[in-house]
Amino acid sequence: MSEQSGPLVGAQTPSVRPGAAEPDAAGAQNPAGTPDPVGAGEIRPGTRVVVVGGGPGGYEAALVAAQLGAQVTVVETEGLGGSAVLTDVVPSKTLIATAELMTLVDGAHELGVRFPGGGDRDPGARLSVDLGKVNERVRALAQTQSHDVHRRLEKEGVRILAGTGRLVSPQRVEVALGDGGTTGLDADVVLLATGAHPRTLADAMPDGERILTWTQLYHLDRLPERLVVVGSGVTGAEFASAYDALGADVVLVSSRDRVLPGEDADAAEVIEEVFGRRGMTVMPRSRAASVTRTRDGVLVTLADGRTVEGSHCLMAVGSVPNTARLGLQDAGVKLASSGHIEVDRVSRTSARGVYAAGDCTGVLPLASVAAMQGRIAMWHALGDAVAPLDLRTVSANIFTAPEIATVGWTQAQIEAGQAQGEVVKLPLAGNPRAKMQGIHDGFVKLFCRTGSGTVIGGVVVAPRASELIFPVTLAVAHRLTVDEVAHAFTVYPSLSGSIAEAARRLHNS
Ligand SMILES: Cc1cc2nc3c(=O)[nH]c(=O)nc-3n(C[C@H](O)[C@H](O)[C@H](O)COP(=O)(O)OP(=O)(O)OC[C@H]3O[C@@H](n4cnc5c(N)ncnc54)[C@H](O)[C@@H]3O)c2cc1C
Repeated sequence: MSEQSGPLVGAQTPSVRPGAAEPDAAGAQNPAGTPDPVGAGEIRPGTRVVVVGGGPGGYEAALVAAQLGAQVTVVETEGLGGSAVLTDVVPSKTLIATAELMTLVDGAHELGVRFPGGGDRDPGARLSVDLGKVNERVRALAQTQSHDVHRRLEKEGVRILAGTGRLVSPQRVEVALGDGGTTGLDADVVLLATGAHPRTLADAMPDGERILTWTQLYHLDRLPERLVVVGSGVTGAEFASAYDALGADVVLVSSRDRVLPGEDADAAEVIEEVFGRRGMTVMPRSRAASVTRTRDGVLVTLADGRTVEGSHCLMAVGSVPNTARLGLQDAGVKLASSGHIEVDRVSRTSARGVYAAGDCTGVLPLASVAAMQGRIAMWHALGDAVAPLDLRTVSANIFTAPEIATVGWTQAQIEAGQAQGEVVKLPLAGNPRAKMQGIHDGFVKLFCRTGSGTVIGGVVVAPRASELIFPVTLAVAHRLTVDEVAHAFTVYPSLSGSIAEAARRLHNS
């Protein structure tokens, strides 16, 4: 997909690709245990493929299917690109681009930069963000991106139907058309890629004005004076970090002991420390019981009776898969108790010929994983060579300031004995480039297998960690040893020098 016109998401996880193994390799059993009518290793042009949902799971699959000569129809309710493009990845990262600039400005004083009118101690005091303008840009960029995806699919001969699809059988999808009426589509292969939507709490219902889900944030035209973010997972932490950098007073309400539970503990500690230093209030072990409107703001009541006041509240308490009213039961598609569609590692569901990809499967809620699941489904269904999804090589990033990027095994898994590994951690404060750039927080962590020295994972906490993790991802994907990584040149001075240095420290592991 071309860098210029292609979707902003989806093409980043080349861990599983055609040609790597035959269909039905280990881990590719159909959950139903039934033979699949497709995916037998023979490409059949003209196969009728219906994709329900036009997010990265759906549109990337459609592109592969079209490339393999299938007759492809994508049914989409809201707009091509899905939530990834319209409400989640693209808008949040566009907003964060502005926040990133504000963070840089914040650190400029230390590097000798003075702003006209800025006080000596607070260089950014005279700078402010016009949130109306920022959000206008965010919405425009998301729309453009959605149109780009639309045009690209049309160019590849994919038929696009605006409407809501549901299975009436494994071989037939009924579509309630956006402009009224219904139509039926016969299919040899169906891919369900319907995504997920924000979870809401009965006593904290979003009103789109003061109590908001992340999909409603982009209509704010003024910076909230005091934003209470409920939920300290990835979404909550990213928005808390961004709004703090944009100049809002932020309170982060977390039901857990620390922010980003489930992530690398050292990384979460850095983020919590930075949040505190910047003036954010982080409330650990605080479960929100209700959120109500006050005369000119919101009141968050915690389970233990304490209250927090704010001008606005962002609810970031997880997602619910879009699997209701899809006709899954009638078509024999099994759901997990969480409501996610059960799939195997080549994206097959329990119904013959029906595949599923992305957030509706709950495998790993990342656009890159959704896209790869969708591609794998089509490679498998249409008889191309394919390897099952391998989550060990997925790199992921949390776009806080600093960012947290991870790949492969985690330190917690190594410590729990799930992998035999060695760990080295180098704080960035010792890196020459970091010193020059005034970077004080963050680290590089590398994990290698005990005995062989093969790199099995890593964590980078740094500005633009999302870019720095790639050498570690390459090492994990291609099973490089720490010595092989250490013997490659890095630029001096560079932050990536710390990755090579970490590899050197693991020599003899
Ligand atoms: C705030 C936020 C930020 C994120 N940032 C990142 C990030 O930086 N990087 C990353 O990799 N991931 C990120 N994610 C996760 C990412 O957005 C999802 O993993 C991704 O969108 C999943 O893609 P999908 O194709 O499964 O579903 P979606 O993108 O949700 O698309 C599903 C589409 O299906 C449509 N649909 C649903 N039901 C039907 C139906 N019955 N008929 C027709 N159409 C239907 C919906 O309208 C929707 O357009 C973020 C998530 C959130 C919430």
